[in-house]
Amino acid sequence: MDNQQRNLSEQLQLLRELHYCNTRYSANNRRNRQSHDPDANREVRLLDTFAVALSTGNPGEIFAASFDKRVKIQLVLAKNGPPTPDDIAAATELISLIGDPAVTLAADLLPFLLRRCGPNINKRIRNVHTSLKELQNDFMSALEGYEPADDMTAEFPHAAGRALIERYGDSLPPFATLWGHFVDKLTDITTDGIKPEDYSFSSSKYADIYIHAETLGRSRFLKTLVEDHENLDRDRKGRAVKLKHRLDKVRQYTNGVSKLVRHGKRLFPIPHRWVMDSFSGTGEGVFDLSDTAYNAMLRILDHPSQVSPRYLEILDTRFPSMLSNWQSQRTMHTCIHAELRIILHLGGPSGSESIIHPIGLSKRSCLCCTLWIAAHNRIFRTEWMTSACDGKPFGDWALPGSACSYAVHDNGTSSVDEAVVHAISEQLTDALGMVFPRKRVYNEFYDEVEFVGWDL
Ligand SMILES: [Zn+2]
Repeated sequence: MDNQQRNLSEQLQLLRELHYCNTRYSANNRRNRQSHDPDANREVRLLDTFAVALSTGNPGEIFAASFDKRVKIQLVLAKNGPPTPDDIAAATELISLIGDPAVTLAADLLPFLLRRCGPNINKRIRNVHTSLKELQNDFMSALEGYEPADDMTAEFPHAAGRALIERYGDSLPPFATLWGHFVDKLTDITTDGIKPEDYSFSSSKYADIYIHAETLGRSRFLKTLVEDHENLDRDRKGRAVKLKHRLDKVRQYTNGVSKLVRHGKRLFPIPHRWVMDSFSGTGEGVFDLSDTAYNAMLRILDHPSQVSPRYLEILDTRFPSMLSNWQSQRTMHTCIHAELRIILHLGGPSGSESIIHPIGLSKRSCLCCTLWIAAHNRIFRTEWMTSACDGKPFGDWALPGSACSYAVHDNGTSSVDEAVVHAISEQLTDALGMVFPRKRVYNEFYDEVEFVGWDL
């Protein structure tokens, strides 16, 4: 296990340094929102919001939540690593708040959210600010060819937009001016975040940010940029999608929390437990990676000598931080991620066969968790789902190994882990293929060109 985990961590770390991201795998564990099962979609969004409401914004912190419906329904919570006493107290308080008959609106949970999630809310607010700055020129160029509706409420079709429009009374400016006002205002008020210790300031600031984020996020103009049916500008579309996603994350503290309070009332207060299992035979631990990123690369490429100076130059130019990043993260602390802790805790395939089993997360699933869940679902005919995958590799991702006992073959290897190891190795080969030329030869027997190694 030690060697397998070390090799995997090195490969993941290299993929990270090569800025690799694979969103193709998101389809594997994602029942998207147009799924045939609206109940599962609703449940995963509710659980996502619950996990977000626990998230303080500390680096590396991910919370997961799922229901154990086997006997009497219970909420099962997990974290990347052991929960702190503060986490445990916050979860207990949040569950009792949702179940409190006096709590009926998202605003009733705001004091808790500002106190618990302040830094995370500020992180999300800052991201909106960055995206708005990046899109300034895009908005100007797109507005030139945009034909707005005569009725401004068709441009801003939801209550928040209508409320902002009403402030103009009879002197409503043309759409481009109005759009500019809303963007300028949101850019301005997201320059600085909230102050979690000052409730009165923070609640009114968040309300102001929310109403503008809701207005822009639900606008017809942003929708046309996000959809960009004519594929006019792919980069602009990417930036618009990112802004939409970031607006959604700020709005989640109202829109998502409002649904959590409304739908959670039926179940909360609910018995709950944290996953505290100490899993054995896993890849969890602390170890050092190869001394340099280049040596790791040579080992992975199975190349006995040095990479030629020309290719080192290419690497240095394209990935100038690779060597220093590698040094600073050479000592790796691996852990089993939160969503896999829930699957391992809830146990074997027989309990959850063919039943969609949503897991809510405070962040999207990483590449390896997505691959692991997809392999588990395929091999054991289970239906674990998370709402989305970010396609990113993380070197600290630990193989569950024999903690998933029913996946372990007689030779001690896990069928689910092997699927991940194989997929990551292939993806690293593809990623390196974009950097180093491959040696190929024509195979007469098969009448095709085959890859025989690296041209280093
Ligand atoms: Zn993960």
